Amino acid sequence: MALIEISNLSKVYGFGDATTIALDDISLEIKKGEFIAIMGPSGSGKSTLMNIIGLLDTASHGTYRLSGDSVAQLRPNKRAKIRRKKIGFIFQSFNLISGMTVIENVALPLTYAGVSHVKKLEKASKILEKLDMSSREYYMPNQLSGGQMQRTAIARALANEPSIIAADEPTGNLDRKNGEDVMNVLKDLHKQGNTIIMVTHDKHWADYAERIITLIDGKIDSDKKVKKGKK
Ligand code: ADP
Ligand code: MG
Repeated sequence: MALIEISNLSKVYGFGDATTIALDDISLEIKKGEFIAIMGPSGSGKSTLMNIIGLLDTASHGTYRLSGDSVAQLRPNKRAKIRRKKIGFIFQSFNLISGMTVIENVALPLTYAGVSHVKKLEKASKILEKLDMSSREYYMPNQLSGGQMQRTAIARALANEPSIIAADEPTGNLDRKNGEDVMNVLKDLHKQGNTIIMVTHDKHWADYAERIITLIDGKIDSDKKVKKGKK
């Protein structure tokens, strides 16, 4: 059984003359532990697919099985619960809360897990240490470099120990150097056995993955294994 099994998935936005078919009959399997890059031009449906895989959004048609369970038609609160447990999201724009310190941002997802405040901060601190961010725990997000912001966002995504990392253009706002740092973190997470799904329109970053899926107009145009060890 594949970790992710998507069959005949479509996503339609709007209605009448304003209809957009963002995803058009996508079928896809992702195995546990894969590192996948989703590529394609702007508007090809990458974020839509990612949001559905990551349980932030639902499809209009089709089936989606996650670890064998059908998750296409779940109620929002049930979907959110599974998402918090299984999926860590990373976005291009970091999405840190500006009024909170780095460590508070990282501890935030633990609010739902019923952990004491001290324990939350201890855990956040440990994760930040792994990401080489210990010296910045009590900084505010606007005092960080882009790379540090994204490492903070990754730490937050890891707080609930998800096994799937969904990263939508994680290097999109970073220069090459900071981009490499972030990609090396993703590479490590992959080595530890996590499943990584990353959207990028830049082949340079896609080459870190072991499989590249290209979308065009909401359809899978190609799905290729990449030679290992390139990066
Ligand atoms: P990508 O991430 O590849 O740039 P998206 O998945 O964001 O593409 O978008 C795919 C298509 O769906 C685009 O035509 C986009 O305009 C449309 N779309 C995305 N989100 C919405 C929305 N919330 N409402 C209406 N149309 C949307
Ligand atoms: Mg996008």
